[in-house]
Amino acid sequence: MRTSYTVDAERCIRCGACAIFAPGVFAVRGRVELVRQPEGERELVQCRAAAIACPTAAIGAAEGR
Ligand code: SF4
Repeated sequence: MRTSYTVDAERCIRCGACAIFAPGVFAVRGRVELVRQPEGERELVQCRAAAIACPTAAIGAAEGR
């Protein structure tokens, strides 16, 4: 099972927290960007932390195959 992440640009306030928690996956360059999907357990843990830390619940996660 693979977890895919999304970012809702309408909800994002560009605080930068996600890019701090998961710098390989999220970037804030004027607006938040999903650089790529997480690779490996370490980045999955980082993304879970980023989603929890996001103050506007802009980060979504979906389980896939
Ligand atoms: S943590 Fe949430 S609000 Fe902050 S930059 Fe990331 S997606 Fe946007």
